[in-house]
Amino acid sequence: MRGGSVAVVGGSIAGCAVARAAARGGAERVTVLERSPGHLEDRGVGLCVLLDRYDELVRAGHLDDGIRHHPVTARHWVARADDGDPRGRVLWVQPMAMHSYHWGVLWQGLRERTPDGVEFRPGTAVTAVGGAAGADGPAWVETAAGGREEYDLVVGADGHRSVVRTAVCPEARSEYAGYVAWRGSFDARLLDTLPGGAARWPEQEVITACYPGGQVVLYRIPGLTPGSTLVNWVFYAPAPEWLKRADEDSDPLGFQVGSLDTARHGELAELAERVLPPYWAGAVNLTPVERILLQPIHDLETPRRTAGRLLLAGDAATLVRPHTTSGAAKALQDASAFEDAWRAAGDWSDLLPGYDRERGEAGHALVDLSRRLGRAQVTGAPDWSAIDEPGMTEWWRRQLGTTGGFGGLALDRKPNPPSATGR
Ligand SMILES: Cc1cc2nc3c(=O)[nH]c(=O)nc-3n(C[C@H](O)[C@H](O)[C@H](O)COP(=O)(O)OP(=O)(O)OC[C@H]3O[C@@H](n4cnc5c(N)ncnc54)[C@H](O)[C@@H]3O)c2cc1C
Repeated sequence: MRGGSVAVVGGSIAGCAVARAAARGGAERVTVLERSPGHLEDRGVGLCVLLDRYDELVRAGHLDDGIRHHPVTARHWVARADDGDPRGRVLWVQPMAMHSYHWGVLWQGLRERTPDGVEFRPGTAVTAVGGAAGADGPAWVETAAGGREEYDLVVGADGHRSVVRTAVCPEARSEYAGYVAWRGSFDARLLDTLPGGAARWPEQEVITACYPGGQVVLYRIPGLTPGSTLVNWVFYAPAPEWLKRADEDSDPLGFQVGSLDTARHGELAELAERVLPPYWAGAVNLTPVERILLQPIHDLETPRRTAGRLLLAGDAATLVRPHTTSGAAKALQDASAFEDAWRAAGDWSDLLPGYDRERGEAGHALVDLSRRLGRAQVTGAPDWSAIDEPGMTEWWRRQLGTTGGFGGLALDRKPNPPSATGR
């Protein structure tokens, strides 16, 4: 199919990738409407893409080696040791080949790769979308500045609290998982101030330090400045009392980097000292307060991804808990499936159902997996003090079930059975 106008609501990972896919597919006019007025890159921390998914996305033309990343080869599961070992007792060394990214570096790379003809409109908040019920009428967007614009297709790449989703499937609601992720990052050179220094932690290891009630995952990522390295961490924990009190509707919003106060930072530091092996507590507590954010964990399933000439991609379409390490890969896969559906379609009425079929099933499977992993690792975790390596491999195999999917399902949807490597 060639020609037509496409509006993409949201210019983050999914938005940049879908805009590129539409332009490559042959759309005549592509416009990205992004609410945020400024640079987004400073707000992000780390994320990972499993090597198998990375290779597929390179083949599909949605990632390339030119976007700086850090190689990861193994995930070390540890828990506080009775003998006081500062790195903790090793429960399992899980082979795991991934690339870790700074969210901002990945976003910049995708933004730079968006073809020149795509129009980006930062500072444009979309307030409503709609259109004819079938695929034969145009769709429209309304923005906070006022006015209505018509497009042949409107793509919702507007994330967790998507406006486009409320038009595609108003019944879909995100569910709060009942726990939070504190997240932070700091200059990796600071590790040298810890007893034993940075040498205690080989550069390609991901650490998962488990405790009753949660875990912290730590890994290195490239910094925004070429040549620099950051330590990124995600600390799953019960929701703090003040957050519960502030959010009686049980759908807490969390807060961005730069808004954590000293008292609440003190609570996090105390939790780290109390539950983590000392080296990893020390690492978390090297983080400057202004580099910490709090993200309540949610997930969301949608019964459909398209309606009329509206289509959802990325977190707007399905939101998975971060335990699956699949958010960015899933968004890029959506863009890849969109491009394939576009190229195969004769007209709009082919494009939308083709994409829905292709991505709907994968979305449901990932939400299910992310709920299982959340229960297994946080709310219903085993007694870490009693578990050994065979116990860990069996426990992991049970979580992945028959479909696998850690890191995202394979793009071609061939069975992706679980293995001890998590791939
Ligand atoms: C600034 C930022 C930093 C992030 N940092 C990380 C990170 O460090 N680690 C990680 O794992 N994930 C991070 N994420 C989330 C991650 O990008 C997603 O989970 C995943 O990659 C899917 O991306 P997405 O594009 O579907 O959704 P999102 O990344 O959530 O992007 C949605 C975009 O839509 C825009 N938007 C929302 N509503 C409207 C509207 N009404 N009108 C116009 N625009 C709108 C938002 O401003 C945003 O840019 C971050 C997201 C953002 C926006």
